[in-house]
This record gives sequence, structure tokens and C-alpha cells, in this order.
Amino acid sequence: MSLNKFRTKSPWILHYNAGSCNGCDIEILACLAPKYDIERFGMINTGNPKQSDIMLVTGPVTKRSRERLVDIYSQMPEPKVVIACGSCGCTGGVFRGMYNCEGGIDQYIPVDVYVPGCGCRPEQIIAGVVEALAILEKKTKDMEGSVKLHNDPIEQDGQTNRREVAAVI
Ligand code: SF4
Repeated sequence: MSLNKFRTKSPWILHYNAGSCNGCDIEILACLAPKYDIERFGMINTGNPKQSDIMLVTGPVTKRSRERLVDIYSQMPEPKVVIACGSCGCTGGVFRGMYNCEGGIDQYIPVDVYVPGCGCRPEQIIAGVVEALAILEKKTKDMEGSVKLHNDPIEQDGQTNRREVAAVI
């Protein structure tokens, strides 16, 4: 049975601070705390990018954090969704144009959902995650449909050749 069916019921979240002032990060932690408690929706904050579906990124991407941002993103398996949290994550915010900042997460990795605000409220973050779930579901379906088996396997020298059965559409 495909586990993709359950992916959106229990998404795992990875939180990365790309140089924020911690204001938005505290709001993300508030989402995990009992008052907002996003774990009741099956979401878990994990520290391992290889097990994550959704990446929550805060901060204006400082020069020191940009390589790690790309590295962590590339370790996440497909399909994956990125949420830029806070004005700094969306555009660079108040740090835009500074000597040590790059200005916006989408300068380095593709962003699917933008959650503005300085800092962004827990309700906004939860709304962003709900939006991300719909995108994750669509990406999962697109990946399942990207390869179709439409040729029969070929019998060659007593062996079954299945190399030609798949075609990318
Ligand atoms: S958007 Fe505001 S609260 Fe969030 S990291 Fe930037 S300055 Fe801090």
C-alpha cells in the first residue's frame, strides 16, 4: 500500500532559522506549545531533513546561513514544501539590503507559501501550513502520475526486459 495516502495526514516539519531575530521562531514554537498545539493535527517537528515534508524557514538568509539552507533543503525527499515565515523570510524585511544579508529565502530555494508579518502570528503560521498541505497533496499526486507503464515487458533471451515499459509523460 502506498504511504503517500497518509503523508498529508501526518506531515513532518523541519524548522530552520536562516538568520532571524528569533521573533518568528518564538511564534513557531508557540504553534507547537499546548495553546495552539499543531501536533493535534498529526504534525511533528523533526530535526532530520531526510524525514521532513514541510520546511519552515525564518530570517533574511544571512551570508553564513545560506549554504546550510540549500544543503538542508537538498536533503529533504520529494515531494517537499517550503514555507517562508515572517517578512524577513519573504523579502528580507528590515534587514533587506544589509551587508550580511541576502534578502528573502526564495533567492536560494523555491518557496511555496509566504507567511508575512513581523513576527508572523501563530494563526497565520497554521494557515500557511494548511495551505502547504494542499500543495504537498498536489505534488504527491503529480509525482505518482509522472511515470506511466504503458508498454508490455519484452521477453529477450529467456529474460524479461522491463526497461522500456516506463515512459515519462
Ligand atoms: S519578520 Fe520581524 S520578527 Fe520575524 S525575523 Fe524578521 S524582524 Fe524578526
